[in-house]
Formats: sequence, C-alpha cells, structure tokens
Amino acid sequence: MNIADNLKKINQELPDNVKLVAVSKFHPAEAVKEAYDQGQRIFGENHVQEMSAKQELLPKDIQWHFIGHLQKNKIKYMISYVSMIHSIDSFDLMKEVNKQAAKVGRTVNCLLQIHIASEETKFGFSIDECRKLLAGEEWKEMKNVNICGLMGMATNTDNTDQVKKEFTSLSDLFKEAKDSWFANSVDFKELSMGMSQDYPIAIAAGSTMIRVGTRIFGNRIYK
Ligand SMILES: *Cc1c(COP(=O)(O)O)cnc(C)c1O
Repeated sequence: MNIADNLKKINQELPDNVKLVAVSKFHPAEAVKEAYDQGQRIFGENHVQEMSAKQELLPKDIQWHFIGHLQKNKIKYMISYVSMIHSIDSFDLMKEVNKQAAKVGRTVNCLLQIHIASEETKFGFSIDECRKLLAGEEWKEMKNVNICGLMGMATNTDNTDQVKKEFTSLSDLFKEAKDSWFANSVDFKELSMGMSQDYPIAIAAGSTMIRVGTRIFGNRIYK
C-alpha cells in the first residue's frame, strides 16, 4: 500500500465531522507532498525545527499542527505560521504562547493537552488541573490564545477496554468544559484523540480530530 491508498482508505471510514491530521514527523517533505497531492491539507509534527523546514519547502496552504511537547524557547520559530497547537500542557506554556503570538499580531488556535494515559511519561494537565485552570480567570485575559478544545493520548496497550475508558473520560471532560466555560464559544469544538492504533475507538468516543502517522506513511525511521 502506498500513501495515496492509505489516505483513501482512512478517509472512506471517516465520519464527516472528524478531521484527519496526517502526522508526518520523521518522514521527508516528499512524503508530505504525496499526501498533499491527494488533497490532504492538515499535517502534524512534533519538532519545531523539522516542521519549519518542511513549511518553507511545501505549499503555503498546508495547515501545520504542532502536536509534540513544546519548549518555550522554540515557540518563536513557528508562531507566525502554525495553524493549531494541540499540546498546551502547562499554564506557563500557554502564557508564553500568548506573549509570542501577541508579538506577531496573531491569535493562535490551541488545545489543552490532558493526561489520560496510565503511563507516567505522557505530558498534560490532569483532569482536575484542567478544571482548576478553566475555573480561574487568567486564561480569559490571554487574548492571543484561542482555546479550541482538548487533546489526549490513550495508553499504548492492546487492552481496548482501557483505551475506551480513557477516551471516554476525555470526552466527558470536553462536554463538561463546553457546558461550564465555553457555552458561548463557537470555537471550542475540537476533541483531538485517536492515533493509528486506536482511532476507531476514539471516533466512537466522540473524537473530532484524529492524528494518524504510521497508517498513512508507514513506520518512522529514527536516525
Ligand atoms: C506520533 C504521534 C501521533 C501519530 O502516531 P501513529 O501511531 O504513527 O499514528 C499522534 N499523536 C501524537 C501526539 C504523536 O506524537
């Protein structure tokens, strides 16, 4: 199977309300171009330097989504073009994104990353930390950050019941946040969850954005 076939297959299964983020990290610009030629416009990357190199080379109507852990000193290299940051995992990071976005006169779409997996290594707010953050007033003053929803990663396991439980907990938090703090927001509508191994479970649990790499581009080669 090649990239075009893989994309076609995933798109055929995708409900109309679910967007596909093609995760192109560690794959060359040529692979991105191949997907682009099939109509794919949203690409996800987890290293700023790699994303910026591709952004320079590739068509300007690509929407670049940043999905990895973001270091504050790297924000400035992508703030002028990034289309969405999925991985706001601390209040300090949100403040810094707001500051850098203000400098370039942009309002940047962001998702709050929530820690739902059992692994310790995954970044993100706990469910309670997220509630606390949103119940506070400070985020409302960050006019250059537009909170569009939540993002999460399930545990990497074959136990589908556990994965389903974790996605459902995120979906419940999303609904609670929408009702409690974003009832008047038209932008708070994205629930980014689901990767190559688990996206059908994520979609069943209410995902609006899946982030798929391996199923489109094949295995990543880490150098
Ligand atoms: C790499 C990555 C993905 C894609 O993973 P695949 O298993 O290759 O689909 C999705 N989300 C995040 C945050 C990632 O880092």
